[in-house]
Amino acid sequence: DVVIRGVQKTFDKLQALQPTDLRIKQGQFTTLLGPSGCGKTTLLRMIAGLETPDSGEMFIGEECIFSSARRIDKPASRRNFGMVFQDFALWPHMTVFENIAFGLRASGRTKQLKEQVQEAVRTVRLQGLEERYPHQLSGGQQQRVAFARAVITRPQLVLFDEPLSALDAMLRDEMRLELINLVREIGLTALYVTHDQIEAMSMSDEIVVMQSGKILQSGKPEHIYNKPEHPFVAKFIGKSN
Ligand code: ATP
Repeated sequence: DVVIRGVQKTFDKLQALQPTDLRIKQGQFTTLLGPSGCGKTTLLRMIAGLETPDSGEMFIGEECIFSSARRIDKPASRRNFGMVFQDFALWPHMTVFENIAFGLRASGRTKQLKEQVQEAVRTVRLQGLEERYPHQLSGGQQQRVAFARAVITRPQLVLFDEPLSALDAMLRDEMRLELINLVREIGLTALYVTHDQIEAMSMSDEIVVMQSGKILQSGKPEHIYNKPEHPFVAKFIGKSN
């Protein structure tokens, strides 16, 4: 599991995230859902080591990646996760093959590199496009490259920061299904950030609803939908919506 305890973050005087506890169960697809500015990206970026919490502690599996009390703050490169960004963040000067291989090279796992990349290419169905550059791909194809790059080392956790929001509506529906199938097929633990209720409802094992820097409710999608425990949750996602 991924465990977050008492993690909080303030920017200047703004408390972006109030002291927060969260457990992301191994093998589950957990979604942080909330309106713009609720702190979900800040939480994701702290797990990724792109932002430093003011206090609290975080574990990926057995490994402590951050603890203010014990002065542990592992650099991003030593945390066992992969990440998929909203704008894909592919290397424009690298081919599809090299973009995917990057995940392996960065962690020094270059044994049978070619075979590993070829398998990842097959998994995301990009055969024949290995030598293309990102600008020669559609948005959906670019996102599949980003996904392959993030998961090729089989990290303990994959972080998704609104990965479908740059795609047009039709492609988004298609990619949603494809992404969840890939996550299940590989057996990944996923933490997914979105402000889209439909996305959260259709993809998640567990939804964590956030507002104004705090978690209001978490649970299975149908539970949250049927039994919202907070007026905001009811309004945002509940059946009275
Ligand atoms: P969005 O969906 O728009 O990305 P979010 O829920 O992910 O929203 P965050 O990006 O986590 O929200 O931001 C939470 C709050 O913290 C916002 O009010 C934002 O303006 C503020 N914030 C985030 N990053 C910084 C920063 N580097 N400096 C100052 N304020 C920040």
